[in-house]
Amino acid sequence: MDDCIFCKIVKGEIPSNKAYEDDKVLAFYDLEPQAPVHILIIPKEHIKSAAEITEENSAIVAHIFEVAAKLAKEKQLDGGFRIVNNAGDDAGQSVKHLHFHLLGGRTFGWPAG
Ligand code: 5GP
Ligand code: ZN
Repeated sequence: MDDCIFCKIVKGEIPSNKAYEDDKVLAFYDLEPQAPVHILIIPKEHIKSAAEITEENSAIVAHIFEVAAKLAKEKQLDGGFRIVNNAGDDAGQSVKHLHFHLLGGRTFGWPAG
């Protein structure tokens, strides 16, 4: 996807502050952090949103959650953390490349905040 900013981050065309990388996923710090720890975890493959998850590509979601647990441990989020996925316009998804927010280091309200 030529005009996708997260694909550009994967390719290194836009710089990012990386927290984790392997052959399938990239994790990097959010530009506008909403918590003391705010990391975005994305598949390197362009998938538009959680609405595009199928039997064929769902393994990446499990892998992303493994990475989230590893990062939460590494960042010492022992009291808890939140994983957020916004899918589609009604949910406020602003970047149309699947991503999971890993948020921690403070307490959170529910369902928002
Ligand atoms: P969404 O609102 O789509 O769930 O989340 C998109 C997130 O990407 C936002 O929290 C926003 O701050 C972050 N973001 C957008 N552009 C960039 C960027 O170029 N670099 C980084 N590190 N984060 C970005
Ligand atoms: Zn993309």
